[in-house]
Amino acid sequence: MPELPEVEVTRQGIAPFLVGQVITGVTVRQPRLRWPIPRALFRVLPGQTITAVRRRAKYLLIDMPAGTLVLHLGMSGSLRLLTQVLQPGPHDHFDLHCAGCILRLNDPRRFGAVLWQPAGGELSSQPGLLERLGLEPFDPAFSGALFWQRTRGRAAAVKQVLLAGEIVVGVCNIYASESLFRAGIHPQRAAGRVSAARYERLAQVIREVLREAIAQGGSTLRDFVDSSGSPGYFQQAHQVYGRTDAPCVRCGAPIRHLMQGQRSTWYCPHCQR
Ligand code: ZN
Repeated sequence: MPELPEVEVTRQGIAPFLVGQVITGVTVRQPRLRWPIPRALFRVLPGQTITAVRRRAKYLLIDMPAGTLVLHLGMSGSLRLLTQVLQPGPHDHFDLHCAGCILRLNDPRRFGAVLWQPAGGELSSQPGLLERLGLEPFDPAFSGALFWQRTRGRAAAVKQVLLAGEIVVGVCNIYASESLFRAGIHPQRAAGRVSAARYERLAQVIREVLREAIAQGGSTLRDFVDSSGSPGYFQQAHQVYGRTDAPCVRCGAPIRHLMQGQRSTWYCPHCQR
């Protein structure tokens, strides 16, 4: 599933081609994604010039004077840039035609989304969705102090609080396990019982883990242009994630697996308290 690093690498891959392009049209082959693709796109997009390609959590935001086209890759989505017309495949649901290229969304499971936010207005069908998201991990306002303040008195497990995304976005199941290991925090510890100093460390390692994933993705996931297949999301080497019974990279103790809220967690019983 594309996580924040894959979405960021996608953004970096497509932005240089899209910014400055004039949109000439839209093709919708399947409007029923997670939410219906708004029909307004046919009217508002042609003639618009793309001014920026941004990311907010796992949403890609394509800015233009009339508003912002908002894309989400869901469970299985990917984007490709075509500089020539290629026959669409069965899962190529949406094309954004520009004067010099086509941005094509492929999404076999159709949990992705194509939404529209008019300038100064609300996001189509999901008003307030972007405003409710937690802070970006690379936002200077995201800090250990914020974690600490927002978790006082909370009995929920620290890993569950991370996954909820209310405080910081982009920490999916993999990065939650990996960050808690690097910070030495037991995933089942009550969020309200983690010290300010340990939250400081956690905020730092979350940035570290995501930065490494983005850097690795940038080197392995560069096939955005004129490829016939999807870019194929990258596999990373993990320190605890998926490593049941393998020796801890720090202390050699066997890594343990447990279920938390129906999600798998891996941790070192010796290094994480
Ligand atoms: Zn260990």
